[in-house]
Amino acid sequence: MSNGIVYLVGAGPGDPSLITVRGVDCLKKADVVVYDYLANEQLLNHAPESAERIYAGKIGGRHNQGQDEINNVLVEKGKAGKVVVRLKGGDPFVFGRGGEECEALRDAGVPFEVVPGVTAAVGAAAYAGIPLTHRDITASVAFVTGQEGKDKNESTVDWDRLSLGGGTVVFYMGVTTLRRNMQRMLEHGRPADTPVALIRWATTPCQQILTGTLADIADRAEESGFKPPAITIVGEVVALREKLQWFDKRTLCGKKIIVTRAAEQAGEFSGKLSARGATVLECPTISLVEPESWQLLDLAIRDLHNYNWLILTSGNAVRFFFQRLESLGLDARALAQCRICAVGPKTADEVRTFGIKPDLVPTDFKAEGVVEEFSRLDMHNSRVLYPRADKARDLIPSELKRLGAHVDSPVAYRNIFPERLPPETLFALEKRSVDCITFTSSSTVQNLAAMLGDELMFDLLKGVIVASIGPITSKSCRDLGLKVDIEPAAYTLDALTEALEAHFK
Ligand code: SAH
Repeated sequence: MSNGIVYLVGAGPGDPSLITVRGVDCLKKADVVVYDYLANEQLLNHAPESAERIYAGKIGGRHNQGQDEINNVLVEKGKAGKVVVRLKGGDPFVFGRGGEECEALRDAGVPFEVVPGVTAAVGAAAYAGIPLTHRDITASVAFVTGQEGKDKNESTVDWDRLSLGGGTVVFYMGVTTLRRNMQRMLEHGRPADTPVALIRWATTPCQQILTGTLADIADRAEESGFKPPAITIVGEVVALREKLQWFDKRTLCGKKIIVTRAAEQAGEFSGKLSARGATVLECPTISLVEPESWQLLDLAIRDLHNYNWLILTSGNAVRFFFQRLESLGLDARALAQCRICAVGPKTADEVRTFGIKPDLVPTDFKAEGVVEEFSRLDMHNSRVLYPRADKARDLIPSELKRLGAHVDSPVAYRNIFPERLPPETLFALEKRSVDCITFTSSSTVQNLAAMLGDELMFDLLKGVIVASIGPITSKSCRDLGLKVDIEPAAYTLDALTEALEAHFK
């Protein structure tokens, strides 16, 4: 007996976080994923790497013939004992041919389950700020295919009922047939001034909305070259959008922003930007790797009880230092004699995750700020360990030495740069569709220049707003010929995010 099963999973309308928990669970155990054009491709990341990924659009040629072939693939894989996820945009049972696929599976004796999804009408309405029903306005809503009766003279849609009575009507697949369908509603008695909204790529950063009335929306769509995929909402509820829109009001909505941090670190900043509506293009310019030799750091770690201060200036320094401590068979107790300076609240938080309370957290995150804090202490003859990145500035060790300290600054990690830009980032730059590029350290800008060559970088960034986290990074930008447009007063990701919001206000 085979254990094959097919899950028809609704992927939701576009935003990859709108899939259900059950949908994600199914993807996690999939051997095969057969996915549609409208299912967000990012969702495939939930499936195991080993899972076979089949793009349904590639199966078969013409539409109907394609459907038979998709059914065959599902049956075949199910019979072969595979866990198959059939990932469909929106909900599988709303204009999704889920019914046909279930019939084929049932006829072939292959077990199946259906996992619902947020259908496009519901997702689009929510993200456009249009309640599909409202107690004061309408008590019914209909989902209608815009393609119905296209090839027939007779339509099976009851246009009288749809048009009269004032219920909200949502058309799927109705961009190319917009004029005809609006005309039908008018002919069947819906007032010409009824508000209409077209919502394209709903719930995604590319969401586009066009509003008008039954009488003029087709002209407006034509004038603006409005394209599928979109849904059309017809009804008085559309007017509520004026008051209730929120998605397009987010401070960075529609902005395409490049984040150039190390791959391991980009997530936090990208999250802040996308929560504000930006489309984030990640462009790792830094890979963090081990030093060429651990020798100097190891010597210092074995001698930790003889140091008075340990200075950690970044989360990376904290992670690499403690990793090395651990691989030498030691733990936080090795630091019992040593006071710890963590530069910046984030670094301090990282230190705390190792059960250690930092003794000093300078409020100014620049090397100058650190030096100033130490200049208030008696550093004479004290021993300081400063594990650092290979390209770190020399200011802290040299200034502390001036204060009479003995400073050891072994390399704890190196910044190297990846060979090339991710293709989608390069493509966006070439298409001139990027609004802003962010640099969060000197190495991010220097590495980008090294990856692209100064000249190409300069050319690709023409017209792109440059945002830098602080003066040192800004100087590195200027040294490479870039003009810095945004620099926050404090050197934190939060401050940089706020500065971006203020700039694009
Ligand atoms: N099963 C899907 C619908 C598939 S039919 C669902 O439940 O949503 C394809 C139509 O869905 C498109 O022509 C368009 O009208 C609509 N659609 C799907 N995703 C959409 C999106 N993100 N934005 C606007 N319309 C979308």
